[in-house]
Amino acid sequence: MSKQNRLFWQDDIEQWVFQCVGCECLHGFTRQWTFNGNMQKPTVMPSIIVRGTEGITDDEHKRIMDGEKIDPKPFVCHFFIRDGKMIYLEDSTRALKGQTVDIPLWEEV
Ligand SMILES: [Zn+2]
Repeated sequence: MSKQNRLFWQDDIEQWVFQCVGCECLHGFTRQWTFNGNMQKPTVMPSIIVRGTEGITDDEHKRIMDGEKIDPKPFVCHFFIRDGKMIYLEDSTRALKGQTVDIPLWEEV
């Protein structure tokens, strides 16, 4: 695998997978997206939206153990992939909303 790749194909889930700097985790997209096939400078259409819940903090964990009910906070990570960069859209709840960042090279992950 080239050092310069920003994406890789994961066979078992049939998705292209890459590291999201904003979420510090992996996101993926399936063949339903239009991908330029360039693993160094991927461009993917349309935009990708990832929804999930934030992990609980140590403090929240303690409060749950004390019997408090804490609802996990939902998050949205919404972005375009253009030319090897992620362009975070304004409806993202993550810190990088509105910013453009390089997708990390795979070997750096
Ligand atoms: Zn993300």
